[in-house]
Amino acid sequence: MSRVMIIGAGGVGNVVAKKCAQNDSVFTEVLLASRTVSKCDRIVAEIREHFPQSQTQFTTAAVDADNVPELAALIRSFGPELVINVALPYQDLTIMDACLETGVHYLDTANYEPRDVAKFEYSWQWAYRERFEQAGLMALLGCGFDPGATNVFTAYHAKHHFSEIRYLDIVDCNNGSHGKAFATNFNPEINIREITANGRYWENGQWVETAPLEISQDIYYPNVATRKSFVLYHEELESLVINFPTIQRARFWMTFGEQYIKYLSVLESVGMTSIEPINFRGEEIAPIEFLKAVLPAPESLAADYTGKTCIGVQARGIGKDGSELVNFVYNICDHAEAYREVQAQAISYTTGVPAMIGAMLMLQGEWMKPGVYNVEEFDPDPFIAAMNVWGLPVDELAGIELVRD
Ligand code: NDP
Repeated sequence: MSRVMIIGAGGVGNVVAKKCAQNDSVFTEVLLASRTVSKCDRIVAEIREHFPQSQTQFTTAAVDADNVPELAALIRSFGPELVINVALPYQDLTIMDACLETGVHYLDTANYEPRDVAKFEYSWQWAYRERFEQAGLMALLGCGFDPGATNVFTAYHAKHHFSEIRYLDIVDCNNGSHGKAFATNFNPEINIREITANGRYWENGQWVETAPLEISQDIYYPNVATRKSFVLYHEELESLVINFPTIQRARFWMTFGEQYIKYLSVLESVGMTSIEPINFRGEEIAPIEFLKAVLPAPESLAADYTGKTCIGVQARGIGKDGSELVNFVYNICDHAEAYREVQAQAISYTTGVPAMIGAMLMLQGEWMKPGVYNVEEFDPDPFIAAMNVWGLPVDELAGIELVRD
């Protein structure tokens, strides 16, 4: 019996709303709010069409999530217990401020990023710890798939298999095909900023910086494919190396096809991925924002997407029995099945389902304590049990090293 507000009606917001509709004994009333209210209305119309049995009561509203007073007024008028933020990382702090002002719990799937600097880190959000704690409120950060499920998988390794995790490799393979020459699977601006930034991994107590896409290797993704994968910096590394201090090296790998990299490097070389505003016909505009406007919307890729994703965490170190151990925990998600279920591709699906699960565990009190937390700070078992129920089955593979040194 819970009242929840979802902010953001893009690819991920669509999935979160539909999974809440499926889980109607927990999510009884949902307000879906975003900048463009027609997108919220369309999602709710689809819910009525595809999930006619759902008892969840949906309403929609327009909101500018950059504006704290406007957000606070909407939160007050609806009175939710929890806000699920699946707008953009730029809005994290304003939404956290509004939650503090109105006394409401908070959850997001991506850490704060200032609009004018391509830099994401947890420091801004961790700075809210005391304020949330004192208000008796909880903020759960990065509860999508990566970050999110990958943090849970790491906690699961530590709880069930390892006395000491020494090497951690998070791997993210999208072996799907959408048939477009060039498109990104989630918000193009955020996605391109992430990939064109320098790579970074953790080794022996410090960050090692690499050029963008400098380090690569072929990785076998069980039952999916062997794909060339590249080291890039990903936000969960920051909290995982703090919360699991035995980790000597932590890396994040992602697959990119040759064609994708070719298009991206051309766009980058002509300046189209720049976040520096230029003056165009009297108006200041960041080239990457313009690029976003001309690229296909991520949600428009869903209908024709085929193939699978495989995202997992390989841990290597000393097992509970004192012997050397390597173990891989992962999920495989099928684009076409995700589309059949919630009219979304697998990237949005694998993000939206964990957001719904995190919200459910908070509302049920299983994951609830005042303060600001990353996902690995909670018991991984109920989360993994819920992934198996809600469409993201979890598998394990022991003794095989998929990612090499
Ligand atoms: P989209 O761009 O598809 O959707 C973003 C939504 O937020 C849009 O509906 C947009 O509105 C809305 N929005 C943007 N700015 C505002 C604002 N100021 N006020 C109100 N609403 C606003 O992105 P995705 O759905 O793909 O991604 C959503 C979030 O999920 C992002 O933060 C992304 O980084 C994160 N993510 C996390 C992953 C993980 O595994 N942890 C993986 C993939 C994504 P409008 O429609 O009007 O533009």
